[in-house]
Amino acid sequence: MTATSEEKTEGLTDDLHKAGLKTTLPRLKVLAVMEASATRHMSAEDVYREVLKDSDPVGLATVYRVLAQFVEAGLVVRHQFEGDKSVFELNDAAHHDHMVCMKCGLVIEFVNREIESLQQKVAESHEFDLQDHSLTLYGLCSNCSESSR
Ligand SMILES: [Zn+2]
Ligand SMILES: [Zn+2]
Repeated sequence: MTATSEEKTEGLTDDLHKAGLKTTLPRLKVLAVMEASATRHMSAEDVYREVLKDSDPVGLATVYRVLAQFVEAGLVVRHQFEGDKSVFELNDAAHHDHMVCMKCGLVIEFVNREIESLQQKVAESHEFDLQDHSLTLYGLCSNCSESSR
């Protein structure tokens, strides 16, 4: 943990404790990578690639194990997007839905009030007590749809 200051490590330790997890070096490393990343949605391999920049990196199997522990503790959400491997996202954002590019894997987050309230109305019309939903739109991002033209 050469790159992270003591203060930063303290914050990470807090986050782990809040999620009911003991502080271990691999957990600190994976969490530090996810919190520092500009991309919110990372595959295990993405996380591993960043962890490799550490002077004393942990292995890919450890990254997988730590991510699974994070998901179980509610610290991280796993998305299983169609035709792609799982991506992981810190569970610190307000509700949002996703668009996934089927060519390059770009993930765009969006929130649309009309869609949210329509889903609520549809559920009500079925006397269904809506607790949660996940909505994922699949297609091509603007870059990919341009290059295929
Ligand atoms: Zn794309
Ligand atoms: Zn997201």
